[in-house]
Parts: sequence; structure tokens; C-alpha cells
Amino acid sequence: MKNIILTGDRPTGNLHIGHFVGSVRTRLKIQEKGDYEKFYIMIADTQALTDNAKNVDKVTNSVIQVVLDYLSAGIDPEKTCIFIQSLVPELFEITSYFMNLVSVARLKRNPTVKSEIGMRGFENTIPAGFLCYPISQAADILAFNANIIPVGNDQLPMIEQTREIASTFNSTYGEVFTLPKAVLPEIKACERLPGTDGKLKMSKSVGNCIYLKDSPEEIKQKIMSAYTDPDHIKVSDPGKIEGNIVFIYLDAFCKDEHFAKYLPEYKNLDELKAHYQRGGLGDVKVKLFLNNIMQEVLAPIRERRAYYEQNIDKIYQMLFKNSEEASKEARKTLENMKEKMALNYKEIAKKA
Ligand code: ATP
Ligand code: MG
Repeated sequence: MKNIILTGDRPTGNLHIGHFVGSVRTRLKIQEKGDYEKFYIMIADTQALTDNAKNVDKVTNSVIQVVLDYLSAGIDPEKTCIFIQSLVPELFEITSYFMNLVSVARLKRNPTVKSEIGMRGFENTIPAGFLCYPISQAADILAFNANIIPVGNDQLPMIEQTREIASTFNSTYGEVFTLPKAVLPEIKACERLPGTDGKLKMSKSVGNCIYLKDSPEEIKQKIMSAYTDPDHIKVSDPGKIEGNIVFIYLDAFCKDEHFAKYLPEYKNLDELKAHYQRGGLGDVKVKLFLNNIMQEVLAPIRERRAYYEQNIDKIYQMLFKNSEEASKEARKTLENMKEKMALNYKEIAKKA
């Protein structure tokens, strides 16, 4: 069986380096290999509205921003189908049927949703749509029979829930769905990149991000004020690398060749870490090294963005066309589901 890939992002702001290492970089590798039948990338505007119902403009304006970030990062619209969730109405219908297969208790146990409820202060005011978004996410994946889902590890509970819904549907009504698999980034630090504040996951909704579109000055300013080891006060003090944002970002981005180019007194990251842990290596030196690397990674993305920003109209046309194509594909799945569910009044009428 050839792979069908589906992945996506919520249009709640611009993409950041957490998205880049957590999901976009995996997408680029898959795109380069080309070993798939279809590669869908969904802008999850309906999902974004589940916690932004009173902020529709933020969501709609972010759609084009996220697409510009994709294209600038190297996602090729010729090789992928980038579409807008709300333009595929079949997804709502599929969600409705799935709602009956999941208990409220199961939804409340989802650890990612639990922590997001805390982050958003929703304890007693959770919108029903927000609690149920993992069901709608299952519909997004299963509508296209996607089997490979490149994500960061906060999405693992969603994929698990999708698999449960798929098997419940199959065993209740008949085989329609294959069970999808999450694909995590190869580097551990990239599975859930923390924000520059060192507290939480880097997240658009928290505002602790280095964005792909940030200017060279913004990147440097964010790196120079990033959280390190609060007990590493004097250069001579031994430093901790665990939980140290600068070293976590180096794990995610640094290659041996960066040392030859920017910090030739060390051969590799292990040597740099060992020196920091022993003492005698200051934060500023490590931060300036990280800044050089991040500038190198983000400059070409920023330059490509300037080109795509001149072609917004064409990008919207591409999104509309792709969304129609996605809608046709989802309709096939929906028809198949309804047939298995025997939800077919024309047949029932014939027999009456
Ligand atoms: P929001 O705060 O609105 O939820 P977000 O920053 O969490 O936004 P999403 O659109 O929810 O971003 O996530 C899109 C994809 O990026 C998912 O696959 C998710 O796992 C991945 N991702 C998001 N943040 C990170 C991160 N800090 N590290 C690794 N992957 C991430
Ligand atoms: Mg998120």
C-alpha cells in the first residue's frame, strides 16, 4: 500500500521553530523522498475556532500566514495538497457520526487537552467544541484514510484516539478505515521544543516563540534572553544542560560543521556540553553560537517568504482548488461510511 500522509496546523499565528523541528522538517523529508500516493496538509481553522470563537479574524487572517510559512520553509504546492478545513464540509458530517463512538469521560482523560484546558484557564468554561476537537481531528485524518501523520509528541494522544475511533467504527459497522501511525521527529529534543521562557512547550498561544519570519534582530534578542541555568552565575561555575533552552535548541539545530564555521575550538556539541558542565564557559558565548546557527537556518526561509508575499492571490486560488479536491475525496469516505452504517434511505424506501 502506498502511503497517504496528512498533517496540519492551527491558524492561530505564525509558525515557529517548534513547528519547524517538530513537524515541518519531517514533512520536507517525506516530500523529498516522494514515497506517497497523496500528501495532504490541512490548515485547521475549524479546530482553531474551538478556543477562539470570539476571535474569528485572528484565525482567518492567520490562514494565509501559515501557508506563507509552509511555502517559505520549502513545502512544495506541486507535491502536496494544502487545503482549508472549513472548506471541506464532509469533515463536519464525519465528526458527527464519530461523536457517538466516544465517551465524554474518554475525552476528559486526553492529557494534551487537559493541559491545554489549564493553559487557557478553561477549567469551568470549556467550550464543548474544544473538548471534542480530538474527534474532529480523527475525522480529518480518517476522511482521507491517511496512514502516516507527522507530528510533535503533544499530538500522540490525538492519534491514539483516532485509532480507537477507527477500530470502533470498523467493528461496529464494517471495515472502512486503516489505523494511522504518528511519525515523530528523529531527534528527541524536537518532539516537544520548549519555549524561550524554559517553562512550557513553544506555542503560538503562549507567546514564547521564535517565529520563522522573525527579523535577524528579533531572533538575536530572543536567544540572548532565553532561559539557561539560573545557578550558572559566574563563567567559572559548573552549568546544567538539562532544561537549558540554549542547549536544547542546539540539540535540535546544531551540526558538526557549525563548529568548524563558528566555534572552531570545539569539534562537536558533546565537547561544548562537557565544557559547560565542568565550568569555565559563559552563557553569552554559547548563545552567540546558537544565534549564528539560527540566523543561518532562518535567513533563506525569510527570503523565500518575501517572494511568496507578492503572490497571495495565486496562493488563495491554490487553496480553493485543493479544498475542492479534498472535499471530493472526503465525500467518498463519507458515502462509504453511510453505506456500512446502512444509513441509506433510498434503499430503505425501495424495500418499503
Ligand atoms: P496552539 O497554541 O494554537 O495550539 P501550537 O503552537 O501548539 O498552536 P499547533 O498548530 O497546535 O501549534 O501544532 C501543529 C503541529 O506542530 C503539531 O504537529 C504539533 O505537534 C507541532 N508542534 C507544535 N508545537 C511544537 C513544539 N513546541 N515542538 C514540537 N512540535 C510542535
Ligand atoms: Mg497546539
